[in-house]
Amino acid sequence: MEAEWVKQMKNQVNTLEKLAKYINISDDEKKAIETLKTKWGTTPYFASLMDKDDPNCPIRKQVIPSMKEQVNKYGMDNYLVWKENRATEEIRPDSIARQYHDRIAFTVVQNCGIYCRHCFRKELVVDQDLKLKFDVEEGLAWIAEHPEVRDVLITGGDPLLLSDEKLEYLITKLRELPHIEMIRIGTRLPIVLPHRITEGLKKAIGGFHKVPVWISTQCNHPKEITEETAKAVYELMNCGINVGNQAVLLKGINDDVDTFRELHQKLLRTRIRPYYVFYCEAAPGIDHFRTSVEKGAELIRDALRGHTTGLAQPMYVLATNIGKIPLMPDYCIVDKNEKEYTLRNHKNDTTKIPNIPE
Ligand code: SF4
Repeated sequence: MEAEWVKQMKNQVNTLEKLAKYINISDDEKKAIETLKTKWGTTPYFASLMDKDDPNCPIRKQVIPSMKEQVNKYGMDNYLVWKENRATEEIRPDSIARQYHDRIAFTVVQNCGIYCRHCFRKELVVDQDLKLKFDVEEGLAWIAEHPEVRDVLITGGDPLLLSDEKLEYLITKLRELPHIEMIRIGTRLPIVLPHRITEGLKKAIGGFHKVPVWISTQCNHPKEITEETAKAVYELMNCGINVGNQAVLLKGINDDVDTFRELHQKLLRTRIRPYYVFYCEAAPGIDHFRTSVEKGAELIRDALRGHTTGLAQPMYVLATNIGKIPLMPDYCIVDKNEKEYTLRNHKNDTTKIPNIPE
């Protein structure tokens, strides 16, 4: 019998006719779908979470194309080439992106469960203007020849769309390399297709091993979390896989205090550890999702720090071609002398602690 996740992928909602079964399509949505040459689509499960009548529904805005994507005042052309250092002199296969000495991103697939309108890999995954060759064997051979790489992020597209057999092969091959200490998988499927977390998948990638697998998922709004999500995450944890979240700060979706706090509290209730909040990157055609740079740090100050448990505190980062730059709210050492430090908190209160000589 065909697995539910396979059926969901075969029945992706990617035409006006299919979409009309879930929502009353707005004029802007209809025009964008009819005129923009862009890949779009969602799993039926994720489509069922959309608000039928509200075009401002946070799930609709992440999934359905908008005419605003035609505006590109601030996005950088060839963004991914810049961001992933693809124009450097080091010879690497297309599948390997490198910003750090000891860890790399290994792209193994180009398709996704949903095609996020704010995706920073849009040129590759959504608009498909950037053509790259994803040859798993070539990537594995490159990693085998680079003993300085200890941490591999398997990415896409969405790697969990590979079959159990392919994933098992990939993970086994990586685990056989003596220098690989950990494997991370970047996937939205626990959120947009939790049915993918099957016994077969757990067997393929989980289990006790000295090279652990970590999953980084992406959830941007509390509405994206359901009972199915919670069950899927529990199943992953049961086979030894921790799940962290990498949210993207999105204007009009999660950039207000209440939504931001509820998102992070609900993630923890679902056993997902908030890990990063990313500033929405300067990829082309996504200007309308971008806030001011300071906004993420302000939200951490106003919605999370001191307002909810420390476990719910992600790090706010700007992902750039030279790596991730963390931005903190303005906590600081206000003063320091031989005797003491003066420290400031999120409410602008100050306190003093002793300065211990080294
Ligand atoms: S699932 Fe990830 S790679 Fe795919 S469109 Fe969304 S953000 Fe981009």
